[in-house]
Amino acid sequence: MLVHEIEELRKIRKEWCGEKVGLVPTMGALHQGHLSLIKKAKEMCDRVVVSVFVNPIQFGPAEDYGKYPRTLEKDMELCNSAGVDLVFAPSPEVMYGKGQKLSNDTLTYVCPPFFYVNKLCGKSRVGHFDGVCTVVLKLFNIVQPDFGFFGEKDAQQAVIIKKMVKDLNVPVEIIECPIVREEGGLALSSRNKYLSEEGKKEALVLSKILNNIKACYNKGITDIDALKETAYGFLSKEHELEYLEILDRDTLDEKDKADDNSRAFIACRVEGVRLIDNICLGGK
Ligand code: AMP
Repeated sequence: MLVHEIEELRKIRKEWCGEKVGLVPTMGALHQGHLSLIKKAKEMCDRVVVSVFVNPIQFGPAEDYGKYPRTLEKDMELCNSAGVDLVFAPSPEVMYGKGQKLSNDTLTYVCPPFFYVNKLCGKSRVGHFDGVCTVVLKLFNIVQPDFGFFGEKDAQQAVIIKKMVKDLNVPVEIIECPIVREEGGLALSSRNKYLSEEGKKEALVLSKILNNIKACYNKGITDIDALKETAYGFLSKEHELEYLEILDRDTLDEKDKADDNSRAFIACRVEGVRLIDNICLGGK
């Protein structure tokens, strides 16, 4: 079922009183990564809602809001075959109000703490996580789910959403789901559509660097700089490294030494497309 309006969604939500409801927030252009979240939601919940909304306030002025892939018809087909109960696809006017200026002069924003946003993706994408938290809290208030499903692909986002839910006493349990990758290791992303075949090959550098860091850690290297330096052998002029960091996976704290609770995070541009990936150093 496809719903565009908040009032209609609220009516349906009322009929689900007493049932466990899961929300999978997405920007659409769905792929197997999104479907893995939906699958997990189906396992844990009686009802699953997928939101499809390309959120204007989480894009910077020079970013790809205008050209972000919008494939609602295909998304609906995928959601229907995955047994999704409801797809909520509001317009920006429905989400933010007609004539509402999208700026923090006139719109209430949720601003996560500086400590969490002043690193990794937040450093280059100023205001991005304010936009994410604002839309996610709005979606939680509209859908009123018991569970929200998020991918480890956007690990900083997941940490920040968990922090928001804790700090603001939002009655939603956040479930994190593992990264789904193509056979070669490239993490699935709607933005992979921007890459040529050659670019896709070059993009493997992200998972190669991360896997190598993990292999080095498993061999006993725990010095963060030494682990990060192993990346240079993989990088060439096709790759524009934005960051490579090893931080605590739960708190995003810097550490003296890598340990099982560390996560390596990378962002790199290939063919001008900004790609991100990460890996946990602990575990298999
Ligand atoms: P997006 O549509 O890119 O905003 O992503 C919606 C949700 O799907 C986010 O929680 C992402 O972390 C998650 N997601 C995106 N790609 C993947 C992937 N390859 N594996 C697992 N989850 C993913």
